Amino acid sequence: MSPDVSSIFRPGLLDGQVALVTGGGTGIGLGISTLLADLGAHVVIASRKPEHLAGAEAGIRARGGAVSTVALDVRQPEAVKAAVDGIAQRLGRLDVLVNNAAGNFYAPSATLSANAWKSVVEIDLYGTFHCSQAVYPVMAAQGGGRIISTSMTLHYRGWPLMAHATAAKAGVDALTRTLAVEWAPQRIRVNAIAPGPIPTEGVRKAFTPPADSGVPDVFAAAEAKMAEYARKGIPLGRWGTPEDIANMVAFLASPAGDWITGAIFVIDGGEWLAKGGG
Ligand code: NAP
Repeated sequence: MSPDVSSIFRPGLLDGQVALVTGGGTGIGLGISTLLADLGAHVVIASRKPEHLAGAEAGIRARGGAVSTVALDVRQPEAVKAAVDGIAQRLGRLDVLVNNAAGNFYAPSATLSANAWKSVVEIDLYGTFHCSQAVYPVMAAQGGGRIISTSMTLHYRGWPLMAHATAAKAGVDALTRTLAVEWAPQRIRVNAIAPGPIPTEGVRKAFTPPADSGVPDVFAAAEAKMAEYARKGIPLGRWGTPEDIANMVAFLASPAGDWITGAIFVIDGGEWLAKGGG
């Protein structure tokens, strides 16, 4: 995290708050976990792989952050509920949920297996619903909370070989708007963020198309000519970073977002607007 970025927010801005970040041990999620902890929140990172959890926990603790982890598959509603109830019991509250966990890979829709479809939709959309539903009673009982879900921009136009993920994220957008209205009386603010291209390890793997698919390997090509791609394809002239996304999450988690609900924030350097239908 660059000192310039974290200095935008007041130190101690999230003191006393508890934040649960799904998929918070890698990529964008790790950027979010790190900034929320830097700002004083106790961050609970939830994902499946022990190596992701342990690495992130050690890194945040080394910066002086308060952090703990829970091994969790967001596709399992009972496990999600048990994890959330455990956090509430152990830490006394739960103020912020960041639905960041996702799975993704290129696959032709004509031959996409039922299992592959199910897996991505279950992680991205069902997982977002399971976690949101599980935090509802805790947040409602304490007088409010913030749910911030991670969407994308690819479904704004259509993205071949990504039927599962684009359908799931369109569902996340719809869910965000519906829960925002339904849970406003409980003072639970529900918003989403839609990152543009951020070359995390996860996205590199997901967006490398099968060799025989005929789809250009955007990331390999872009890596070869990084500066040129950013200049031509992204109006603000650079790739995004996890910190770019974390800044919006911190803003929404803070009192600055108190009158914001049901919004979906695109954070992409202008990429999707510039690409239009192409
Ligand atoms: P990433 O590093 O692969 O992160 C995905 C995270 O989700 C991992 O930490 C993974 O941890 C966790 N996860 C996967 N399946 C899970 C499950 N069933 N239960 C719990 N956790 C699970 O990818 P990223 O690029 O940072 O993406 C983060 C978010 O941003 C995703 O929602 C993605 O759709 C969105 N996004 C990314 C981009 C981009 O360009 N990077 C653009 C638009 C949107 P475990 O393996 O330990 O479970």
